[in-house]
Amino acid sequence: MEILANRVVTMAESETLAMTQIARELKETGKDVISLSIGEPDFNTPEIVKTAGKKAIDDNFSHYPPVPGYPDLRKAISMKFKRDNNLDYAPEQIVVSTGAKQSIYQVVMSLVNPGDEVIVPTPYWVSYKEIVKVAEGVPVYVKATIENDFKVTPQQIKEAITPRTKLIMFSSPSNPTGMLYSKEELKAIAEVVKDYPYIIIVADEIYEHINFEGGHESIAKFDFIKNQVVTVNGVAKGFSMTGWRIGFIGAPLYIAKACNKLQGQVTSATCSIAQKATVAAMELDPKVSEDIITMRETFRRRRNLVYDLLRDIPGFEVRMPQGAFYFFPNVAELYGKQVPADSQFAKTYNRRTIQGSEDICMYFLYDANVALVQGIAFGDDNCIRFSYATSDDKLIEAMRRVKEAVLRLEAGSL
Ligand code: GLU
Repeated sequence: MEILANRVVTMAESETLAMTQIARELKETGKDVISLSIGEPDFNTPEIVKTAGKKAIDDNFSHYPPVPGYPDLRKAISMKFKRDNNLDYAPEQIVVSTGAKQSIYQVVMSLVNPGDEVIVPTPYWVSYKEIVKVAEGVPVYVKATIENDFKVTPQQIKEAITPRTKLIMFSSPSNPTGMLYSKEELKAIAEVVKDYPYIIIVADEIYEHINFEGGHESIAKFDFIKNQVVTVNGVAKGFSMTGWRIGFIGAPLYIAKACNKLQGQVTSATCSIAQKATVAAMELDPKVSEDIITMRETFRRRRNLVYDLLRDIPGFEVRMPQGAFYFFPNVAELYGKQVPADSQFAKTYNRRTIQGSEDICMYFLYDANVALVQGIAFGDDNCIRFSYATSDDKLIEAMRRVKEAVLRLEAGSL
């Protein structure tokens, strides 16, 4: 008899974290693995933020904070939403949680009843569908293709809506594709959704500051849809604060209250020190903050570098991303090819033919010592994800290894 609950037994592991763990273990055996699997900036947290965190310890911020976050932090986030996104969220409409992942989890748990449908544009970030399933919701996948720059159309959203639709998971800049929706594209989607006042859009904007096209656009900024949007953000990506675990939402008041209630039963609140540090992060204006600008411009340079290197690899179809720090090339042309007889992948997995994104990633991991994430984890088996949040030297070496491994593949299948 299975002792564990079905919800955990049937849940997929977070593949981004799983791949990173495999790479870590391989590294521990002495292999020189370059990990391009996890989406994590390789910068330090800005000094001013670290100082605020240290001060919070010295000032004895060591007691339970209010469940939705300290008042000064919620005020600072409210100011940030206005300054950066032209969104009016009062502090009462803001809930601070332990990472944007928990923010999304609480929104889904607060809104989805068993059997409710949640529209998930594909490729999606790995955790969306599993969170929906934990809530006993039904993910409804809407497929965006590389030909359409991995963006879904308003028509596709309209066709996916049924009387059971409750939520739409939405992200721009997108993880894993790095694509951005323009203001016009967001408006067109909002215009479809506004005709269904009981549908809520979860707008995941965690990559807001890593945008190479200019200003970030929030879907909540159109007045006619604002009451149907929960805007999710956090400090992990834009401020290189992944380990501080701070995410937040701006939401219609009744949703913020529901998330607050849930959070009160789950974590009580978010780490007091991290919250105080986040106040300092919110005060950094992205238009002038050197920390944010340096990070974005470094990612822009690396993106251009990796684009040229990836395009030079046979069998790779690559789109130029406009945000985040990922490439999501289509590598389906390599499927069906044989790995060489001396391949570590063939030995480890007893397989000689590349059958899909998982095989090709394992082949690159074992034969090229480069860790990536299989596209199937994001709902698209034709693609694989590269995170370029690492040094130029490592990126150049990783691309060299991957190219060499591709060149070693032999035509035809066994
Ligand atoms: N969001 C990052 C990624 O996609 C971090 C890992 C995770 O939480 O999935 O790699």
